[in-house]
Amino acid sequence: MSEMVDGTAVASDPVGRILLVEDDHDYAGFLVHVLQKTGGHAVTPVADAEHAVRLLGSPGWDVLITDIHLPDGNGLDIVRRARELTPSTRTVVMTAFASVDSAVDALRNKVDEFLTKPVRPGDLLETVNRLLLTARAAAKRRQRVLAIGAHPDDVEIGVAGILVANRAAGNETAVLTLTCGAEGGERAERAREARAAAEFLGAELYLRDLTDTEISEGQPTVAVIEEVINAFNPTVVYTHSVHDNHQDHRNTSLASTVACRKVPRLYCYQSPSATVDFRPTLFVGIDDFLDDKMTAIEAYRSQYAIREYLAPDLTRATARYWGRLGPSRYAESLEVVRDRTGVVGADQPDSADAVGRDRAPAVGADRGAGTRTGANDPGDEQPIAEALSDVPVEATAGPGRVGAGDAAARTDETAI
Ligand SMILES: [Zn+2]
Repeated sequence: MSEMVDGTAVASDPVGRILLVEDDHDYAGFLVHVLQKTGGHAVTPVADAEHAVRLLGSPGWDVLITDIHLPDGNGLDIVRRARELTPSTRTVVMTAFASVDSAVDALRNKVDEFLTKPVRPGDLLETVNRLLLTARAAAKRRQRVLAIGAHPDDVEIGVAGILVANRAAGNETAVLTLTCGAEGGERAERAREARAAAEFLGAELYLRDLTDTEISEGQPTVAVIEEVINAFNPTVVYTHSVHDNHQDHRNTSLASTVACRKVPRLYCYQSPSATVDFRPTLFVGIDDFLDDKMTAIEAYRSQYAIREYLAPDLTRATARYWGRLGPSRYAESLEVVRDRTGVVGADQPDSADAVGRDRAPAVGADRGAGTRTGANDPGDEQPIAEALSDVPVEATAGPGRVGAGDAAARTDETAI
């Protein structure tokens, strides 16, 4: 279904939740009228950056539209915060002066669209509706990632980098920790630390209370994991390896294999107690997320000083070691139990990557910037990148970019 606005056919089906940041009261009123009355979207207008960032903390925004110049800041800073707080939200920046400098700045900040004032109603609606469609297509591809650990800190040591990268890619993440680690310290304190680490990772935490050092490979462990599988419905699970000296880790791995039998992708991560039989075949680059991994592990203060295996040089050296076999300098390593995403056919190179036969997939998504060549959704392309195709590639790779170097060219929204 469509209608004509300014001579432009505008699809009226998508109705989005839009955050509008515009300090000119009259102009904001005009934009709200167009988006709400003509476009049928739900619009929340605010006049300053501080208010906008506060609202971005609550979920559900489909599109952020912001003026570039605001009384208390710059629209590009809001876009940067939006990417951190709500990666799936699409972004539009408006400016009265369309200079090459401002366009390049927008590109560097991975703005999805760039509109010049005065904005034509038809252009505005066409842009918003197009971004809504790509946002929803991306949402369908979004992964739900669950990491399972026997004790607080297991998951962070094994896959914290991968979890942060998934969040940055807009995927949902969760951590299931089966015990409070009472044998290794004071229970309430370890639970607090687990919550702090999960919060830092941006992951939902399921903290359960099985008996530390006595986790079984059968019941009740399988039922505890199944309950979380049913609640979170993951598409990807990371768990312990059976190649591990710690009985809790081995049994968590065995119970996970049973409980996750219907999950399409199942991988086992490395613990410091892994044996020499731990033989990973998938190496996920975490160059941009290694620092976050270190910070997440630091959340375990009660253990940090007394556990040799939490020493930062060991974490860093382990990631560096596996990086030799992966797509980047630092990597987390995984044994592949199951991966049902490989499809032989038109998409063959990506499929081969996805199961890690040769090299691991680059971590995470990156919907911005012209260096991306691995997109598999033509509708998710970057109009700004097209408009500025003569901008040097180096200029498009901003800080925090997921998957540096070679990997950057092979990112995919859900390729972790
Ligand atoms: Zn453990």
